[in-house]
Amino acid sequence: MNEQKNDKKEQNNKKNWYYLVAIIILVIAVAGIAIWYFTTGKQKENDNEIAYTELIKKIDEGAIEKVEMTVGSTSAKVKLRGEEEEKNAIVPNTQAFVELIQTKTLEGNNIELIQKKQNVLISISQTLFSLLPTIMLVVLFIVIFKMQGLGDKGKVYDAETTKSKIKFDDVAGLEEEKNEMLEIVDFLKDPKKFNEMGAKIPRGVLLCGKPGTGKTLIAKAIAGEAKVPFISMSGSEFIEMFAGLGASRVRKLFEKAKKVAPCIVFIDEIDAIGSRRTSGNGAESENNQTLNQLLVEMDGFDTEETIIVLAATNRPEMLDKALLRPGRFDRQITIALPDMKGREEILKIHAKGKKFAEDVKLKDIAGDTAGFTGAELANILNEAAIIATIKDHEAITNDDVEDAVKKVTVGLERQSRVISDKDKKLTAYHEAGHAIVSSQLESQKDIKEVSIIPRGIAGGYTMYKTNEDKYYISKTEMEEKLIALLGGRAAEKVALNDISTGASNDIEVATQIAKDMITKYGMSDNLGPISINTEKDPYELQLLGDKFGDAVGAEVKIMLDNAYLKAQTILANNMDKLNKVAQTLMEKEVISSEEFESLIK
Ligand code: ADP
Ligand code: ZN
Repeated sequence: MNEQKNDKKEQNNKKNWYYLVAIIILVIAVAGIAIWYFTTGKQKENDNEIAYTELIKKIDEGAIEKVEMTVGSTSAKVKLRGEEEEKNAIVPNTQAFVELIQTKTLEGNNIELIQKKQNVLISISQTLFSLLPTIMLVVLFIVIFKMQGLGDKGKVYDAETTKSKIKFDDVAGLEEEKNEMLEIVDFLKDPKKFNEMGAKIPRGVLLCGKPGTGKTLIAKAIAGEAKVPFISMSGSEFIEMFAGLGASRVRKLFEKAKKVAPCIVFIDEIDAIGSRRTSGNGAESENNQTLNQLLVEMDGFDTEETIIVLAATNRPEMLDKALLRPGRFDRQITIALPDMKGREEILKIHAKGKKFAEDVKLKDIAGDTAGFTGAELANILNEAAIIATIKDHEAITNDDVEDAVKKVTVGLERQSRVISDKDKKLTAYHEAGHAIVSSQLESQKDIKEVSIIPRGIAGGYTMYKTNEDKYYISKTEMEEKLIALLGGRAAEKVALNDISTGASNDIEVATQIAKDMITKYGMSDNLGPISINTEKDPYELQLLGDKFGDAVGAEVKIMLDNAYLKAQTILANNMDKLNKVAQTLMEKEVISSEEFESLIK
């Protein structure tokens, strides 16, 4: 984990380098101005001045005792006979002035002439000050130039090369995936052995999975296990406003890789460059060039060259088919969300080095966090440690962990927000509605907590226990989920006879589920088992005909209407329970699962 942090630091350091130079120059400039102002300002402060013509007159009269001048400066200090204080004078022509004093002295009119060397500090500051505009301009130019990536070496966008210390042991779960990667590790360790045998190792592996599932981690672990350099770049870094820049970055990336081979090249978010090619605007043709360059590079590998390209994406279906051809990314590994056992193992890894109280059971946390990614689990334990520190606990308690889970899932508790009584009542009925409706549905009735304390953007929330990992969800369960989601809106309607904007997220989620049920899982009675993926193919719906599109829309509407009606019916039949729960919520703001059970008994 420290490794990861170091990587990020390194990356930041590189990017900050240019800022640093700019800041240093700026500081020097400011210091220069300050010194200049300080030293010359002091002289100006003294208004005890004598005009040049007056000075010449005084010299003629023999009234001057001493003249003190600084070489290279036009200012002079003069002391008049019989006067204590010295006067300042500006001498336009120092050469002539010095000659004048020398003649006067020769004539017997004794004037003491002191010629001092200039103060080094002043001369430096003056030089700096005069060069300042030029320096600033040059620096500014370089910084802009580099940041645009136009500089010949393009350091800012240079691919990261690191020695990864991450090993397979640092990657929890994912046993099959790690096993599949073993041959790549062996190949990188001893490519000759494989080449002599004539064995072909995949050159490109596509890692598919949601953000935070550990794709980068496993790629680093391969490099770490094989003890080879890890060169990484994100797809979005290739996309630039200057045409051709993306392609040249790809070229440089592989030039670098060839120098340090054997090595791992990791391209994150490859969909940013590798999306399906469609003819069209500028940005897309830029993508084309970048993508083409990537294909050229991958095709150009010699059999001798030991570069393995790993790429990560969450949307493999969006990728250009050319990328998936043999010799390119011809192997795909899907990294799924961790199951219960996987979550426990991830928690174990991230619990290392943290102090826990006796009541914390990693197994229970794993049970409560179905659907969480590895990154979220790591985040929860870190948040819990922060909460425990702030609360001055001796060790991380179970409450701290539960707080952290809520913080990561629903957002931070916002105690500062002032809620009007009207809003409070609305939220109480809305959440009570979700809870009561859910309690009457077999698949939704395991409620963990109901709350009207605002968190993140939500005004309140109803949390469910998620104890088992499911690989399949039934149609009944999805229908019940829709009813529970619309329970909030239904309660507003049934109890307060008005509806609010508070249900917008519920409705959004419900609509998505209904759409998926019909177009992804083929669960509609009318349309049957069919899959329509307009993201994959925008013309799919058109191919099936306009009428078909209309039918999908009608099905979604029927599904949502039915669910909403069902929710209202449940509430109408349980008005007393709804009132009781809403009332209790207004008083206590949070209801635990036990309290909820006893309220609705
Ligand atoms: P991705 O590249 O898939 O978006 P990352 O590899 O960047 O995800 O994972 C982010 C962080 O989540 C990792 O640095 C690690 O701390 C944690 N993590 C994710 N999956 C695992 C895992 N299987 N084992 C241990 N830590 C994990
Ligand atoms: Zn709601």
